Amino acid sequence: MYKVLVTEHIAEAGIELLRNQPDVELTYDPELFRNFDKILEIIPEYDAIITRSGTPVNKELLERARKLKVVGRAGVGVDNIDLDEASRRGILVVNAPTGNTLAATEHTMGMMISAARLIPYAHKSLKEERRWDRKKFMGVELAGKTLGIIGFGRIGSRVGIRAKAFDMKVIAYDPYIKREKAEKLGVELVDDLDVLLRRSDIITVHTPLTDETRNMITKKEIEKMKDGVILLNIARGGIINERDLYEALVSGKVRAAAVDVFTKEPATDNILLDAPNIIVTPHIGANTFESQTNVAVIIANQVLAALRGDEVEFAVNAPYEDTAAAKVLKPFMELAEKLGLFAVQVACSRSKEIVLEYRGDLGEDLKPLTTAFLKGFLEKIVDIPVNLINAPFLAREKGISIVEVRRPEGINFKKLMRVTCKSDAGEFTIAGTVMDEKFPKIVEINGFLFDLTPEGKLLLIKNFDVPGVIGKLGSILGKYNVNIAGFQLGRIERGKEAKGVILVDNDVPPEAIGEIKDIPEILEVKQINL
Ligand code: NAD
Repeated sequence: MYKVLVTEHIAEAGIELLRNQPDVELTYDPELFRNFDKILEIIPEYDAIITRSGTPVNKELLERARKLKVVGRAGVGVDNIDLDEASRRGILVVNAPTGNTLAATEHTMGMMISAARLIPYAHKSLKEERRWDRKKFMGVELAGKTLGIIGFGRIGSRVGIRAKAFDMKVIAYDPYIKREKAEKLGVELVDDLDVLLRRSDIITVHTPLTDETRNMITKKEIEKMKDGVILLNIARGGIINERDLYEALVSGKVRAAAVDVFTKEPATDNILLDAPNIIVTPHIGANTFESQTNVAVIIANQVLAALRGDEVEFAVNAPYEDTAAAKVLKPFMELAEKLGLFAVQVACSRSKEIVLEYRGDLGEDLKPLTTAFLKGFLEKIVDIPVNLINAPFLAREKGISIVEVRRPEGINFKKLMRVTCKSDAGEFTIAGTVMDEKFPKIVEINGFLFDLTPEGKLLLIKNFDVPGVIGKLGSILGKYNVNIAGFQLGRIERGKEAKGVILVDNDVPPEAIGEIKDIPEILEVKQINL
């Protein structure tokens, strides 16, 4: 019998589900989170605890929880849970990130129409000020307008489907989804964010908050947009820079905005509250009765699966065993993660299949290496920790199938990990090894041989193997004050195509990349951060 403790209110459907399990003994006390001492007293008896954000699942609690196997967070954020301590103790933490997809989608539609038609302002004018002011509230129609969706995942794609029902033209920017996903829905996927910024009448962001998406929309991006654009952020505070949005609303460049999420919440003194033509809500995107029910059912099922040893879809941590074998594998895991990071920044983000080839004796269990690769590959795209348990699910969600191939013999090196990304655009291959059992090295890129330490910033270049290219490159980088720390060239045959890697000390500005692309002998250039 599994003893499950629920310390906060969750929707009845989840409680019913747990109550009906023959192998579960449930204690449901929705007010218990107010009495932490009592929780500490009883926790040693329980196999699972389900909380919302009010119960501190901290070191003190976890130390006493001798039988605890799983912590369920009925919702998304896990700030109240000490993930490291749980991992160390082999306790799995699960959450329910998909329960509120429709709630957030519908809130976006509501906010979009409200911003286009100024509904909250008209409501306030009539109800609170008792004014019959019809001329003042002139709006714009959605029909015929272009909606630009940044981040075409669960919510973004559903917003797209609904916008099409309003006769909007929908375009999307998401470098990490398969083209077919958008095409199937009649949505045009653009490869360049600038194109979306220039073409859209309304822009809505639906990405996670990552290093790449924080401040994705600033003054510079807003300047590229149409005059009178409408902007929406129902995703995460900080994707659109708040001060720059405020200024653009004041100047009228942005006609209206709708925002549900803020960099600091509660956001009762946020600068955006003083902006004209903005519609704000206090992070209620997920607040529907239905979504609360979904979350409760998802978390109940996740906890049951974890207790019974079945597959868990939404693991937030990965309890680990610090074995000797894991220590030997560590430098290869570092390499695998770097190969993932490299791959996602070149052509691999739209891959259909990624083949991970393990050559030589890399141990019995390849899972840690594959997970480390996926960690590097996915961590720029998602805002949750990628781990042993959730990595395969996350890859599947992106429509990527991962194939592991093991070969007993190495090539050139005794042990080698080689990655091949297969997409409609062709194949990309990168391989690496570990030198002196300590130092990860990239040894091959698309058939060209290298000896590269995978760290820092670099430019990956494909060019014609003719004299003078390096000089031209060097003078452009010099002009933009970019110091070259190292340079390697790989070629298969003299006078044909060559591949070059330039290690640089600082970021190469987009203008410099533009000039490099204009060198006639240069076929491709890509900046990569490892
Ligand atoms: P998702 O993971 O299904 O989709 C996110 C998409 O963003 C993915 O397709 C990913 O490829 C894409 N992406 C990642 N980095 C990108 C980049 N640099 N440029 C362009 N696209 C990028 O997530 P989801 O469930 O659709 O949630 C989207 C956002 O909405 C998240 O930030 C989530 O926290 C937020 N959310 C808010 C509320 C609310 O209450 N307002 C409720 C639910 C979700």
